[in-house]
Amino acid sequence: MKLFVCQACGNVLYFENRACERCGHRVAFLPEKETMSAIEPDGEAWRILADKGESRMLCRNAEYDACNWLTDTGEGNGYCRACRHNGIVPDLSDPRQLAGWRELEVAKHRLFYSLIRWKLPLQARQDELPSMV
Ligand SMILES: [Zn+2]
Ligand SMILES: [Zn+2]
Repeated sequence: MKLFVCQACGNVLYFENRACERCGHRVAFLPEKETMSAIEPDGEAWRILADKGESRMLCRNAEYDACNWLTDTGEGNGYCRACRHNGIVPDLSDPRQLAGWRELEVAKHRLFYSLIRWKLPLQARQDELPSMV
């Protein structure tokens, strides 16, 4: 997995990081730039240091520490490109299921990172399917 750099202090960032270990900035993955970015609070949203002037919401699954991605502009449901594909989520009040789900989300986010890098379509079931026949 690629390494990234904190825009605030130049420290190395890993794909699964939630915060920079040197400067303490919260960090998140920005799918359209395929990069990790240091982020700063901007009201309800987060200012993206890798994309000056841009602010975005964190994915709703960040609340469960199951996701560290930023949502796309105009994404109405509050989920990132990877989490909008989730159909069934386990009972998160059960710590065992929550732990298992987080593990699964790590693998899923790595998969989506690859899909994005390979420029493969990320159609969700709720999207309008074009006729493929
Ligand atoms: Zn840093
Ligand atoms: Zn997400």
